[in-house]
Amino acid sequence: MLPNILNLPNFEILDMKESENDYRFLAESINSPSSHCPKCGSVPNYYKHGKKEQLFFDLPMHAKRVGLIVKRQRYRCLDCKETFFEDLPDMDVNRSVTNRLIDWMQKASLEKTFTSVADDIGVDEKTVRNIFNDFVTELEAHTDFRTPKWLGIDEVHLLKNYRCVITDVENKSVIDILRKRNKDIVISYLSKLQDIDKIELVAMDMWNPYKSAVNTMIPHAKIVIDKFHVVKLANEALEKIRKANRKNMSAKERRQLMRDRYVLLKRRKDLNDFDDQIKLQVWTNKFPLLGQAYELKEHFFDIYEAESIDEAYKLYQNWLSNVPKELMTYFEDLIKSMNNW
Ligand SMILES: [Zn+2]
Repeated sequence: MLPNILNLPNFEILDMKESENDYRFLAESINSPSSHCPKCGSVPNYYKHGKKEQLFFDLPMHAKRVGLIVKRQRYRCLDCKETFFEDLPDMDVNRSVTNRLIDWMQKASLEKTFTSVADDIGVDEKTVRNIFNDFVTELEAHTDFRTPKWLGIDEVHLLKNYRCVITDVENKSVIDILRKRNKDIVISYLSKLQDIDKIELVAMDMWNPYKSAVNTMIPHAKIVIDKFHVVKLANEALEKIRKANRKNMSAKERRQLMRDRYVLLKRRKDLNDFDDQIKLQVWTNKFPLLGQAYELKEHFFDIYEAESIDEAYKLYQNWLSNVPKELMTYFEDLIKSMNNW
């Protein structure tokens, strides 16, 4: 008998073999047999009926995989003549892993691929995936997914595809990620939400399939276009003007403005560095059209500071009438979005 270096007090270690990547332990349970036959329920009226070796995987040790061959006792009941195996504490007998390895795999799977987790411990990838799926099901059962009052729909580019991201805007949390971002997928998701009437506002970017899914499923909800996606277009207009202006610049100036462009894209009120303020002044004086576009960008952002819809509307009309003809094409996308959305 070997010292119990596995720290599994319910087992006795009989033997150990070590190879380059693996440890193999031979072990037996030291637990007393069950108090009744699991097949017919009779009080102990059974006898030992051979042993069977079963391989279990355990936590890796010294960066080697650990396998535990358990000599599992078989019994035969005298009353029902059925055979059964002893219970094994600390083991998941269906998955052939220790319970503590399951915990370990669940955490590891959050950070690594199933294949690499499987490789670390010696089980096959499918086992890791199944255990992880069980874990997710369990987490979902214990998580209270409440339909938010303010639903957010956006996307993220993951594994070569746009995935729709569903958020609770009020509580600043991600609720779900959908495989795709088309209308049918969003409709099918919304149709499964409980208390869909609770949704008052839906924040989204300017993506028609979202709008039409929301209009179909929650027509009472008000659609709010995420400010980020709108003001972004003002900055993009500014960038287009900077690029169009390159033909009027020397190569050196072009490179310098490329490096300095952040002073144009930042809000004036966030430009705390004195050097940055000077840079902004130099560039906007040198290229008046860029300066004008910069002011337009700033004023566009200001619309979002309005106290009321009326005020915002007036600010926007005023802004629009201040866009000079020669800058119209650059702000076209922004203006079009404002009209359409
Ligand atoms: Zn029995």
